[in-house]
Amino acid sequence: MNSSDTVELFKKYVIPNYGRYPVNLVRGEGSLVWDSEDNRYLDLFPGWGCNLLGHCPTKVVKAVQEQVAKLIHVPNTWHMEVQGLWAKELSDRSFGGQAFFCNSGTEANEAAIKLARLHTPKERYKIITFEGGFHGRTLGSLTATAQPKYHEGLGPLVAGFNYAPYGDLEAVEKLIDEETCAIMVEPIQGEGGVRIPPKGFLEGLRKLADNHGLVLIFDEVQTGCGRTGNWFAYQHFGVTPDVMTLAKAVCSGIAGGVMMTTPEIAPSLRPGMHAATFGGNPIAAAAGIATLQTMEDDNLLASAKQLGDFFRTRFEQLKQECNIIQEVRVLGVMVGVELTVDGAPVVKSCLERKLLVNCTQGRVIRLLPAMNLTIEQAEEGCKILEDVLKSIAAE
Ligand SMILES: *Cc1c(COP(=O)(O)O)cnc(C)c1O
Repeated sequence: MNSSDTVELFKKYVIPNYGRYPVNLVRGEGSLVWDSEDNRYLDLFPGWGCNLLGHCPTKVVKAVQEQVAKLIHVPNTWHMEVQGLWAKELSDRSFGGQAFFCNSGTEANEAAIKLARLHTPKERYKIITFEGGFHGRTLGSLTATAQPKYHEGLGPLVAGFNYAPYGDLEAVEKLIDEETCAIMVEPIQGEGGVRIPPKGFLEGLRKLADNHGLVLIFDEVQTGCGRTGNWFAYQHFGVTPDVMTLAKAVCSGIAGGVMMTTPEIAPSLRPGMHAATFGGNPIAAAAGIATLQTMEDDNLLASAKQLGDFFRTRFEQLKQECNIIQEVRVLGVMVGVELTVDGAPVVKSCLERKLLVNCTQGRVIRLLPAMNLTIEQAEEGCKILEDVLKSIAAE
C-alpha cells in the first residue's frame, strides 16, 4: 500500500490524536528507515527515543524470535527465569535494587507514585514535581507533568501534586510540609527541551529528601539505559535515587516499562497493591536482556559519549556562524539545539531532505540518535541540519 492510500485508511479508521507525517514507513535498519515509495530517511530520532540501538537490532530481533516460539505470555502468578534474569541485569547496572515490570513510561511512574504513598506514613501523600517536566499521559503521571497545555480540559486532576521551577532548590524546600511524601524529577528534562540541571540541583534534592524522609524518584524513562553515555543519567551526578523509572529504550522498542527501587523500600508495594498483566512478559524480558547485552558487547556507552562530543563540537561551531542558535545542550546521544525562532520549519525542511529530527517546546531541535549511529551518518545528518539552519537564518 502506498503512502497516500495509507493516509486515507487512517483518516477513516484511526483516531486523529497524533500529528502524523504523510509518510508510510515500512522497514528500518540501524539509523535508516524506508517508506513505501522506497525513499530512504536518515533517522536521528528513531522510535521517539525507544530505538536506542536503531531499527531492528540483530541480537534483539533474534532474542525475540527465539522467545516468541517458546513462551509468549504467562501471568505474574508464575516465576519465569527470563524476567528474573532481566531484573538482575538492570539491578547489577544500577543501585542493586529490585524491579517492578510494566509496559510503558507512564505506567512505571504510576507505580512510583503509588509506592511513594504506600512507603511513607499515611498522612503523607503530596509529591513535588517540576515545571517543564514530562511523566506521561495517564492521570497520575499527567498530574505530575507540570505543563498546563497537557492538562487543559481534563480536570479534576489527581490531588496532591506541587510544582517547583526546575533547578530551584529553595522553591522545593518551601513546598515541603508534613504531608509531602516524594520528589519526582527527570535528571535531565527530555520533552522539556533537553534541560540539564544546574550544578548541585540533584545533590540538593537528595539532601532535602533525606532530611525530610521523602522518597526521591528519578524518571529515567528517556535518559536511562545508556542514552547519556552511562547506564543511567543519575550516574553522571553522583546522586542515587530511591526509585527509578524506565521505559522507552529499555527493550529497544518492544513495549516495556520498569520501576526499580531499593530492597528496603520494595516490600512497601505489598502483594495485591499493584499489578500489570503484561508487565515483564517473556518477550519484553528477552528484548530487555538482549538490549543491555548488545550495548555491552559492542561498547556502545563509549560510542554514545563519542557521538555526544561530535554533536556538541559541530553545533557549538555552527552556533558561531548561525545567529538563530541560542544554546546547545548535549549529554551522550541526547541533543538539544535551542533556537531563537520556531523549530517547526526546520523539522519540515529536514523531512523534505529525508532527515528525521524532532522539535520540542516550540524552539528546541531535539535529536535522540541511536548509539550505534556511524560517524558518517552523524556527518550526513549534521550537514543537512547545518544547511537548513543557515538557510532559515539567512531569510
Ligand atoms: C516518554 C516519557 C514518559 C512517558 O512514557 P510512555 O511510554 O509514553 O508512557 C515518561 N517520562 C519521560 C521522561 C518520558 O520521556
